[in-house]
Amino acid sequence: MDIFAPLDLSKEKQDSGIESTEKVRCLIIGSGPAGYTAAIYAARANLKPVLYTGLEMGGQLTTTTDVENYPGYPEGITGPEMMEHFRKQAERFGTDVRFGVVTGADFSGTEHVISVEDNKRIVADAVIIATGATAKYLGLEAEKKYAGMGVSACATCDGFFYKQKDVAVVGGGDTAAEEATYLAGLCNKVYLIVRRDVLRASKPMQAKVMNTPNIEILWEHQAVDLYGENGVEGAVLVRKKGTPEEATVKLKIDGFFLAIGHNPNSGIFKEYLETDPAGYIKTIPGTSKTNIPGVFAAGDVQDPHYRQAVTAAGSGCMAAIDAERYLSELHK
Ligand SMILES: Cc1cc2nc3c(=O)[nH]c(=O)nc-3n(C[C@H](O)[C@H](O)[C@H](O)COP(=O)(O)OP(=O)(O)OC[C@H]3O[C@@H](n4cnc5c(N)ncnc54)[C@H](O)[C@@H]3O)c2cc1C
Repeated sequence: MDIFAPLDLSKEKQDSGIESTEKVRCLIIGSGPAGYTAAIYAARANLKPVLYTGLEMGGQLTTTTDVENYPGYPEGITGPEMMEHFRKQAERFGTDVRFGVVTGADFSGTEHVISVEDNKRIVADAVIIATGATAKYLGLEAEKKYAGMGVSACATCDGFFYKQKDVAVVGGGDTAAEEATYLAGLCNKVYLIVRRDVLRASKPMQAKVMNTPNIEILWEHQAVDLYGENGVEGAVLVRKKGTPEEATVKLKIDGFFLAIGHNPNSGIFKEYLETDPAGYIKTIPGTSKTNIPGVFAAGDVQDPHYRQAVTAAGSGCMAAIDAERYLSELHK
């Protein structure tokens, strides 16, 4: 059977509003470091990958200025520039990069069916999901105003820019405790802003925070605003909100780090793919394989731990190699 033969679309078009169906060997969803790296490897392996970029072409790094920790750029590089390099490299080997959003998935058969923008259907032998994860914010207007100017959701990425400065971390779980202790190694002072009067973090992480001299926990505080001329100079906090002791306080800081979790962009695949309670797609350890043969996951969407460009790129490479091996078995 010619797997690239066009399908008869006339009936389904009438029935479902689907305007076209296309058969591809390897479909990649997402244009961050994971998706583009998967595309580079898949294209060089002659899998003729088609990649859908999603709304955020280039992924999360397009929202940041300096990337200083990606190997190969000794002087650093801006996020958007770096992702342009990724795209060009993927296209150089023949990746078909398309702007479009995947809106549905059906992994019930051996062929995997993906809907794009609700009117196009792709039937793929192998699918690589690299849809990333989105950091949660408090929802303050000021977080948008100071994005990249003192507000960050990644201490590993941005902590270096706050060396010897005073910063605050928002959150009370393991991630917040980890981010606070990481920043404490770089910064002069770290305030941990905790909504409740307890930490949700594990006991060992709590002990680490408590035993770090330059971390101060602000119990029962909530951040409600940020201020500053050309970047964050401080935060406005409410202490003991809703109690007779409620008070508004100002905290002078240079950086404001969110550590209240991430939303992995896995919702449309959840019916078929196993995820952890937070929604991260589960992969077989040491591989990019999901519970569905021929469906692979790479980057932040399957990584609750590292969430870095270089780890995303590394897992994109793994996914393409896993897909190539799967396809060569399939078409033996
Ligand atoms: C502000 C900021 C600064 C950062 N700085 C650094 C840094 O300095 N160094 C570092 O290593 N890491 C940094 N990171 C983290 C890094 O950006 C991520 O770890 C990395 O981008 C994850 O790559 P990814 O390919 O898994 O996903 P992402 O980069 O999140 O890309 C996901 C892609 O999936 C697409 N997508 C999502 N849903 C759909 C859909 N339904 N259909 C089609 N496409 C879809 C999106 O459009 C996007 O292209 C930073 C993150 C942020 C937010």
